[in-house]
Amino acid sequence: MFVDEVTITVQAGNGGDGCVSFYRGKYIPKGGPDGGDGGKGGDILFHADPGLNTLVDFRGVRLWSAENGEPGRGKQQYGHAGKDRTIKVPPGTLVYDEHTGELLHDLKPNETVVVAKGGKGGFGNEHFKSPTNQAPRKALPGEAGERLDLRLELKLIAEVGLVGLPNAGKSTLLKAITRADPKIADYPFTTLSPQLGIAAVDPSRRLVFADIPGLIEGAASGAGLGHDFLRHIERTQVILHLLDAQPLDGSTPAENYETIRAELAGYSDTLAEKRELIALNKTDLFMDDDEITEAVRDLRSTLRLGNETDVIPISGGVGVGLQPLLEALWKMVHPDGKGEDGWQEG
Ligand code: GDP
Ligand code: MG
Repeated sequence: MFVDEVTITVQAGNGGDGCVSFYRGKYIPKGGPDGGDGGKGGDILFHADPGLNTLVDFRGVRLWSAENGEPGRGKQQYGHAGKDRTIKVPPGTLVYDEHTGELLHDLKPNETVVVAKGGKGGFGNEHFKSPTNQAPRKALPGEAGERLDLRLELKLIAEVGLVGLPNAGKSTLLKAITRADPKIADYPFTTLSPQLGIAAVDPSRRLVFADIPGLIEGAASGAGLGHDFLRHIERTQVILHLLDAQPLDGSTPAENYETIRAELAGYSDTLAEKRELIALNKTDLFMDDDEITEAVRDLRSTLRLGNETDVIPISGGVGVGLQPLLEALWKMVHPDGKGEDGWQEG
């Protein structure tokens, strides 16, 4: 299983101190106590936003804190409460106490939980007025906000499975579109290491890619494939089929397409039935745009592709056509334009 993991510290706001103050009017030299209470410190909340699918926003930011409450003031003025801080996390984020290992929260889509409580404000001296003590000099300090070291863990669901023959340019493409490599937890295979990448369509829309062909190549050479990995890969929503537009061995892109389709089908029905997008890669090898258009048309007609299958010309090596490719994939993964579709239970 691919696991994205980060360790952070959350610090809720401290409560404001209570105030010691006495009313001083022009003609009232010895007024009563009027010190107000301190405000409550802000809470730290987590909100599970279905539009998020990774923990990359937490990289490099260790401390997440909420505002402190203000101290109370004279004239019976309460301190303002510190603002809460709501931090968005992807649904499925598991929140552990880093020190005890205890699972504190398991966030469902759109759920909001308080992970660290702000401290209460301290009483001002007005609170301590009594028949026997008309001039209390006592006030209480605010309580400290909760501080916790947390380990966040997210099982990454690859949304796009990348397939293609060796040398189609899969690794090059992943490298070109991927801005963050998830840290991958212990992996059950010894012979194969999964290629996983997070591509940003733009800063707020991310797609998780998994390089499936590594597997198929491995399977062909007899390397053991774990059941877990297959299950995981079967949860991808879209297959991106990468084709070398001008294979060096003289084969055609259409033949290579069929080869991979046959392998996929032999490997898993679930995988073979996924929606698919074809990217005709290495278009930098063509002379001009007309040749590219013709190659796409050729491929479409040889494979008798219907309207439901898009063919997008790209060059992973040179970085051409990548944005349209990501936009098209995003639309397939989120057909309703929202983030919700990326979420799968379990
Ligand atoms: P993989 O086996 O599918 O992972 O393919 P690689 O990414 O390792 O690429 C195989 C070969 O194709 C390498 O020599 C790459 O430099 C080359 N290559 C990859 N992408 C492009 C491209 O867009 N244009 C050209 N001309 N060569 C590419
Ligand atoms: Mg590769």
